[in-house]
Amino acid sequence: MATNVRTLDVTKEEAALLAGTEDDFIEYGKTSVKCPRCGGNLVMTDWDSSYTIGCEHNCVTIGFRGI
Ligand SMILES: [Zn+2]
Repeated sequence: MATNVRTLDVTKEEAALLAGTEDDFIEYGKTSVKCPRCGGNLVMTDWDSSYTIGCEHNCVTIGFRGI
């Protein structure tokens, strides 16, 4: 689990749910967990020195640094 999680307007519960999908993305490149707000798919986006996990419709997003 990455430390230094940056959250963008999400609750602690939503952040924890999104953070819990990190291992799925790293291992499988996807997750079966759905967005807590709209039920949409969650996607991981790689930004070089950091990455984000969030809803495909941008309802919720959290960011990680330094992998
Ligand atoms: Zn959503």
